[in-house]
Amino acid sequence: MEKIPKTYDVLIIGAGPAGANAAISYKNLNPDMTVGLVDKAIFPRDKSCGDAIGPGVISALKRFNNEHILEGEPQVVSTTLYGPDNIGIQNYIPKVKNKEDSIVYVIPRVDLDNRILNLAKELGVDVYEGYSFVDFTPNEDRSLNVLIKNDNQNLEFVTKILVGADGANSRVRKKLNYKPNSDWHKAIAIRAYIDSPNYLEIFEERTLMFEINVSADKGYAWAFPSKGNLLNIGIGVPVSIFKKDKLDVNVLLDNFVSELESRGVVVENIRKQKSYLLPFASSRPKRNKEYNIALIGDASSMINPMSGEGIFYGMEAGYLLAKNTHKLLDSNMISIGIDRYEKEFTKRFKKHFLSCALARLILQSPFMTKRLLRVASNDQDTIDFVVELLFDEAYLTLKEVFKIGYKFVLPTKLLSLGQKTHS
Ligand SMILES: Cc1cc2nc3c(=O)[nH]c(=O)nc-3n(C[C@H](O)[C@H](O)[C@H](O)COP(=O)(O)OP(=O)(O)OC[C@H]3O[C@@H](n4cnc5c(N)ncnc54)[C@H](O)[C@@H]3O)c2cc1C
Repeated sequence: MEKIPKTYDVLIIGAGPAGANAAISYKNLNPDMTVGLVDKAIFPRDKSCGDAIGPGVISALKRFNNEHILEGEPQVVSTTLYGPDNIGIQNYIPKVKNKEDSIVYVIPRVDLDNRILNLAKELGVDVYEGYSFVDFTPNEDRSLNVLIKNDNQNLEFVTKILVGADGANSRVRKKLNYKPNSDWHKAIAIRAYIDSPNYLEIFEERTLMFEINVSADKGYAWAFPSKGNLLNIGIGVPVSIFKKDKLDVNVLLDNFVSELESRGVVVENIRKQKSYLLPFASSRPKRNKEYNIALIGDASSMINPMSGEGIFYGMEAGYLLAKNTHKLLDSNMISIGIDRYEKEFTKRFKKHFLSCALARLILQSPFMTKRLLRVASNDQDTIDFVVELLFDEAYLTLKEVFKIGYKFVLPTKLLSLGQKTHS
């Protein structure tokens, strides 16, 4: 006799922050729902990342009283930006709109993702670790049959809604025949861990160090302090540049290590080098309404094109999807709910992502990077705005464009005069 497949209200592929937070959100909004969460990895699992989580993630965790998973983690209080010619600025993380905490944590993803997944497990989500998503087939009532497998067995489920949260190389997205981001709209980056006994001494506080257009032309490098002497370092470039200039990520990382050492940072025990793609939110896939399938997180190209931050947007997408669909699962309106989720996400972040894409264009020019950092080092409003783009949902209004544009053409001496009379 054929086995009847288990039925779920929601089946989520990918248990990273986006997928796990979608599961947490569904269960909090309606504890009676049946939610399945599938991941090809067995947790705790590593993920190539800078490991920085800012005010957005903190507020996403607070929504369902889950901020306790950050307890005991050291807080980062500032950012330091470097550009060509050693122009550098250090700034406190400004108070951000919509969120209470202007704090950043640097928590290795092997820990962070496991803690978020455990929250989902505690809520009664069925988690299938070590199983890969294979394919889906639609049924007449718009439910979907979903096949997953591991080395020993295939499992089949029926679900009312399928969520693709399976990251930058999403198989769910491929099965939907959505195009991947073009090389211009994605980056490749490599991460490594190092020990540095003197990083905090050199920068005098726990600061996130960003470096633009220095160790890699048109590239971006970071050094983020985690617990103790542990530092997450890395470097990334747009894939278009990577291919055109035939670059090698390991060489880029070596360049950045030399750059850190030239600033006096002691670099010991370089390990766990791992590279991966970052699909930018400057190009998002358009939904095929034929199926009750939603994409969230990297699977749906939600990474900030300026900062490379993606955890917050993925987690927020998981919540917005649950919010817009959890009441519709027993109706024939699931597809409308998925549309509402897409619209709400786009409305909230479109201008922000556009502004970050524009900032990325400016920062790809060494001349403009130098100019921006010069302006910012003499003008608190500009540096606050740049940091808000990195960590908040800030966007450029026409007024802002004129204000910053005007400062760009003003001689530096006049700018510093203006700042002095201001303070
Ligand atoms: C080098 C680098 C540095 C970054 N730095 C930062 C940073 O400092 N801060 C920040 O916010 N963001 C950063 N990002 C972006 C961030 O890592 C992603 O945006 C974030 O991980 C997206 O979460 P997600 O849940 O969508 O996907 P992921 O975290 O990638 O999770 C996807 C999950 O799906 C699983 N999966 C994949 N395929 C299948 C399948 N076929 N079947 C079942 N499961 C599957 C994977 O095992 C994985 O667990 C960085 C990215 C890179 C590459």
